[in-house]
Amino acid sequence: MAVPPHTTGAGRTTAGRRVLPSAVMLRRADQGWLEVISGPMFSGKSEELIRRVTRYQLARVPTQIFKPALDDRFGTTEVVSHSKLSVAAEPVETADQLLHAVLDRTVVVGIDEGQFFDDGLVDVAAALAGAGKQVIVAGLDLDYRGRPFSPIPDLMLRAEYVTKALAVCHRCGGPGLFTQRVVESDELVVLGAEDAYEARCRRCYNPDEMVQSTFAV
Ligand SMILES: [Zn+2]
Repeated sequence: MAVPPHTTGAGRTTAGRRVLPSAVMLRRADQGWLEVISGPMFSGKSEELIRRVTRYQLARVPTQIFKPALDDRFGTTEVVSHSKLSVAAEPVETADQLLHAVLDRTVVVGIDEGQFFDDGLVDVAAALAGAGKQVIVAGLDLDYRGRPFSPIPDLMLRAEYVTKALAVCHRCGGPGLFTQRVVESDELVVLGAEDAYEARCRRCYNPDEMVQSTFAV
């Protein structure tokens, strides 16, 4: 079983000295943990999730990937990135349903579009990690109004590893931290409408840009 992506491999030698004894390596092999990949739209979150999961699949580590059943942008049984990378995924409607769909033999649990799950995902991810699974969740950390997008922020607090992905601002090319909605809608999420959003940097982001006329009296 592999070590986390952001750590030095157990047992690796530096300057001729063994960093970790083999006992630690064995114990680590049974350990679960939680990784979160967060950021705005167009920051490559799904692509990073696919990359990490595929690496385990190449090593024949048992994996399962889940996605919220409501996200049917590209078909219901795959996670597909903007650059058309894909991996097979099981659609589930709730965090509880996800928990019960995880098989005993599964080592790596990938979850895409985590922001579309209920708050129960925080406890479910913690329970899976506690049971020795390596849980990788990708999701939006902020909604189009710049508010925390539950349950991703809570997942980040409970995670061993957090990757905050940035997009490129569609207006100026700066660091894209926010998801800007560029069509009028009061819905929290406009599904399947990539054209309805842009990535924006701190300077170019304006949460009132498109909702102003809707809310103005
Ligand atoms: Zn900008």
